[in-house]
Amino acid sequence: MARVFVITGPSGVGKGTLIRGLLDRVPGLQLAVSATTRQPRPGEEDGVDYHFLSDAEFDRLVREGGFVEHATYSGNRYGTLRSELERRLARGAGVVLEIELQGARQVRASMPEAVQIFIAPPSPEALRARLVGRGTDDAAQVEDRLKAAERELAAQDEFAHVVVNDRLEHATDELEAIVRSALAA
Ligand code: ADP
Ligand code: 5GP
Repeated sequence: MARVFVITGPSGVGKGTLIRGLLDRVPGLQLAVSATTRQPRPGEEDGVDYHFLSDAEFDRLVREGGFVEHATYSGNRYGTLRSELERRLARGAGVVLEIELQGARQVRASMPEAVQIFIAPPSPEALRARLVGRGTDDAAQVEDRLKAAERELAAQDEFAHVVVNDRLEHATDELEAIVRSALAA
């Protein structure tokens, strides 16, 4: 049976890095490409990293019920496209949604069977260092994301699975084990 895996956690914790490792290891697992109104970062491609939409396009999809969930994060809008999720569910063994906390809560309400995984940093200092080290956000954005991180970290007990991303290899092993066990169930 195809399964939905929700992976959430503060910005900079390593979700994208872990998911890349996970997709390499688990055949048939796919990542749903989200929609956002945020500007593309250098190197990001439309349709690959995100579907980059205008506010008006995003609004139209909200009105038409085109999103499984959507939320505003750090001044931009993000959402999981229903069409994208359904298309990938039909094709693969499982689909990963990499989304923030409000979206994860909406999916928990509408799809309680989805497997919910929270990625936590080894420490707040490590999170700041990763966010700064990634070099994709200016100082104000880093502070905004760290403020959001406090709220997100306080919610980790809501999640069935919490993986601490300390050593990348170890965290990837843990994530893989959770996904394989759900796919085998
Ligand atoms: P997210 O997708 O959660 O915003 P990223 O995957 O972009 O986070 O990772 C943020 C930064 O942290 C990247 O520069 C990445 O290389 C680094 N990183 C990820 N996992 C680890 C880890 N276990 N130890 C050290 N650095 C890491
Ligand atoms: P970024 O701007 O760093 O790519 O993403 C910012 C935050 O938005 C991250 O926490 C990421 O997980 C989240 N995000 C990405 N796509 C979606 C989505 O489709 N829905 C929701 N709710 N959050 C998303």
